[in-house]
Parts: sequence; structure tokens; C-alpha cells
Amino acid sequence: MTELDRKKEQTPVPKEWAYAPAPESRDVVSIEDRYGHFVGGQWLEPSETYTTISPATEETLAEVGQATPEEVEGAVAAAREAFENGWSGIAPAERAKYLFRIARILQERSREFAVLESLNGGKPIKESRDVDLPLAAAHFFYYAGWADKLEYAFPNRRPRPIGVAGQIIPWNFPLLMLSWKIAPALAAGNTVVLKPAETTPLSALLFADVLRQAELPPGVVNIVTGDGRAGAALVKSEGVDKIAFTGSTEVGKAIQRELAGTGKRLTLELGGKAANIIFDDAALDQAVEGIVNGIYFNQGHVCCAGSRLLVQESIYEPVVEKLKRRLTTLRVGDPLDKNTDVGEINSKQQLDKIRELVEAGEEEGAEIYQPPCRLPEKGYWFAPTVFTNVAQSYRIAQEEIFGPVLSVLTFRTPEEAVEKANNTPYGLSAGVWTEKGSRILWMAERLRAGVVWANTFNRFDPTSPFGGYKESGFGREGGRHGLEPYIDFDGSERGGG
Ligand code: NDP
Repeated sequence: MTELDRKKEQTPVPKEWAYAPAPESRDVVSIEDRYGHFVGGQWLEPSETYTTISPATEETLAEVGQATPEEVEGAVAAAREAFENGWSGIAPAERAKYLFRIARILQERSREFAVLESLNGGKPIKESRDVDLPLAAAHFFYYAGWADKLEYAFPNRRPRPIGVAGQIIPWNFPLLMLSWKIAPALAAGNTVVLKPAETTPLSALLFADVLRQAELPPGVVNIVTGDGRAGAALVKSEGVDKIAFTGSTEVGKAIQRELAGTGKRLTLELGGKAANIIFDDAALDQAVEGIVNGIYFNQGHVCCAGSRLLVQESIYEPVVEKLKRRLTTLRVGDPLDKNTDVGEINSKQQLDKIRELVEAGEEEGAEIYQPPCRLPEKGYWFAPTVFTNVAQSYRIAQEEIFGPVLSVLTFRTPEEAVEKANNTPYGLSAGVWTEKGSRILWMAERLRAGVVWANTFNRFDPTSPFGGYKESGFGREGGRHGLEPYIDFDGSERGGG
């Protein structure tokens, strides 16, 4: 018997080639039973509370404050006081030091934040660990660098901070959206009142502890929690000079109406229905990975998700076949398992919305494909879904589903691809897959989208501006552009939205 044969006999043959669970430990996070509002550097006892849960298990994680209009006003007053009595006047290089500290602490505590983010929001741990946390820290590092260089960012325009910024963020990237909002606001010398989404307040509340560690002066950042009523109170508050909002187009429009004529500055980052366009000369396997990343990343809870796939007709069949095969290898399940590719839907309300739109797609005549996968019994789950045979007029091709649902359409010429891609009320992002650089540029010039990715999708970088056209909102976050909404210039008029 040869050495090799002997080894073969000793090695047990696995019965099935499935991944063994690899759960991330929860021990690294300690969650309080009850949280108040973080105002003026202190925890204030809330007058009302609600419970926040883990959507995967539906277990209660903590009691959290539901801010009343009076509590919101208190936070705004603390931010005003901090703005006028210190923060706006300190040397910009000192402001930068705080931002650098926050960035470094986020890096040091990244595992703790990643676990909490996945617990409270449902996203796979490998995404919160490898995307949300590194990017959140990178935003603070990046804007720390700008804090003492504003004169160079905007030469001859004498930049000044605006005052108190009210910031309202959604539940799909809680900590990352917090960093997109807070980092540029502080770098420009403003103070902040932030309201996280009702379903995902915990990482923002843990962030208050980072502020304590960084010794940020009291009142520079205040965090009030609660549902949309708390957000509405922040929008209405007379003490706020600027509102920055990320969320649905519907609420964005309501905020714009509310602020019209008030002189308050406004930026809106709203919904999307991005086209991911695959030409017949693209590297197909790479493109299929890009399609999967475009729509199943974060369960499709991504405003810039590539939810409409436009495939050149000549390669339609191989692309759809490869895509379906790839879908069978996606692992749906426990967000804290390091093997998981697709976690759970953030809330029952969101799951109901996805189901409703998927039913509409089937009723309208599209053909549905879902890979065989066993979904856990508890929690809110939805299998990765592909619709073929989709007409442009179908609701699944028009409306933002905000879930792991892809609609496939075809085109013949680049002109047709542009026309179909732009046939949407939104204009946040798009993707183009082709090996021809000239075609990428030709397409990018014609696509009405704030971001156009070439041979990739869902790539984010703090140096790169992000924002939309049409019903996807206005204003940019990220890059030097992301500072501008937080700055007044000598002699400039207030925009009022
Ligand atoms: P919302 O727009 O309602 O929520 C975004 C944020 O605004 C949350 O903090 C929310 O609080 C707050 N808010 C709600 N109502 C008001 C108001 N009247 N005034 C001020 N702030 C308010 O989004 P939803 O969470 O309800 O999601 C609904 C749909 O929106 C999704 O299905 C998806 O299609 C889309 N969406 C798009 C996002 C994007 O990034 N483009 C992000 C999130 C959602 P609360 O959490 O308590 O409701």
C-alpha cells in the first residue's frame, strides 16, 4: 500500500460538502437594558421608550427613548450652545484632532461595532466587518484631513460653518450613514443633532461612548432616538440651520415641503432604481459577480442597488444561466455567521413591502426564480430573487423594492441601453460592464445618475462624492463636495433647499 493510499484510508470522507456554522461571538458587545438620549454630553432619561429587537430572532435587545418634540428641542439647544461657546471658534487643527481620535477609536472597537450592527440591523457580519466599519472609520479620517484646509478646498470664498445641523438617517447602513453625516459637519465647524432610524438605534448609541472616549466637548454631537415623529420634530425645530436626510423619497419630499421658504439648508439622499448594464464584450463571470454584489449586498437594502439588470440581447441566455447557478451558492441565514452572504430583512414592514412588490411582478407576468434555500423559521427572511421576462412598465422595474430582488431586461444597442436606464424617476447610480474604455465614457456621459461604476458595482470611497438626480435627491456626500452643504460662504445667500 502506498503512502497516499494509507492517508486516504485514514481521512474521513465528509457526508456533505456544506459549510459548518462559524458564528461570531456576541460577547464582545455589551448592550444596556435601557438607553436615554445623548444630549450635552450626558445621558438624559427619556420620557417615553420603545423596544428595539434583533430582526433575526425577534428577541428584545434594549429599551430605547422615543424623543418628544421638547426633548428634541433640548438637544438642539445643547448643540447651539456648543456651537456658540466653543466649537465653531476653536482652531481647525484642534477640530481635526477630535476627528482623528474618533476614527482611530472606531478602528480599535470595530469588532464590537460590527457585531452590534449585525445584531440590530440583520446584515451579514462579513459585510459590517469588512465594509461598514472600515468605511465609517475612513470617513472620519478623510474629513479630519480637511478640517484645517477649508481655505484650500474653497479658495477665495472664506468658508464658515453654518451652525446646528439636524441629521436623519435610515436603517440600512446605520453607522456608515452616521459617519457620512457627522464627519463633514464637524470638520466644517458645525454641531449636530442626529436621529438614527427607529429600528437600528444601537450603533449610534454606542457611538456616544466613542465621543466620550475621544473627549469631544459636550453638545457638539447629540443623539436623540425615536420614530419618524422625532425626525419630524427635528425638521421643524427653529434652532436648526441645516437638515441632512437619507431615506425614502416620500419622506424626503415631505421634508422639502416643510422647509420651503424657511431659509434652512437641505440635502436629500433618497431612493434609487439603478441600471446595471452588461455589454456582450464584458468579462461575463466577473460581471455576474458584479450583478450579485449589486443587488444582494446588504439584502438589497441599498439605495444605489443595481436592481434593474440590462443585458445585451446576444448574451442574455448565458448571463441568466450563470446568474441562476451563482444564486444557488449564496448562503442565506444567521447574520452573525461568518459564512452568511445574505442576512435578514430589517423589519416586518419592509418584508411585507418586498412581498407585495414580488406578488405584483408575478401578477403582471414576469417569471420568478428563487434558488432552493432553507430559510430560518423565526425572523424576517426573503430568498434571493430574479425576475426575467420583465417589461419596463412593471412595478418591479419602476419602483424601489429595497430587497434582494432583481429585474432582468434586455437591450440591443448602446442607445437603447441609455434610454432604458434613464427611464426611471430616480437617478442615483448605474453600472456599465464592457471591455471598451470609450464605451464606458460614452455611456457615463449619457446616464442620468450621480455615480456610474465601470466594471464594478457598489464601491464606496470617502474621497468620492455620492448623491442623486431627479427623485434620488440633491446635494452630495463624500469628497470635497460633501463639505459644501455644511459651509456658508461670505456674501452667499441661504439656499432654503
Ligand atoms: P423613511 O424615509 O421613513 O426613514 C428614514 C429616516 O427618516 C428614519 O430615521 C425615519 O425614522 C425618519 N423619518 C420618518 N418619517 C419622518 C418624517 N416625517 N420627518 C422626518 N424624519 C422622518 O424610510 P423607511 O425606513 O420607512 O423605509 C421606507 C422605504 O424607504 C423603504 O422601503 C425604501 O424603499 C426606502 N428607503 C430608502 C433609503 C435610501 O437610502 N434611499 C433608506 C431607507 C429606506 P423611522 O426609522 O422611525 O421611520
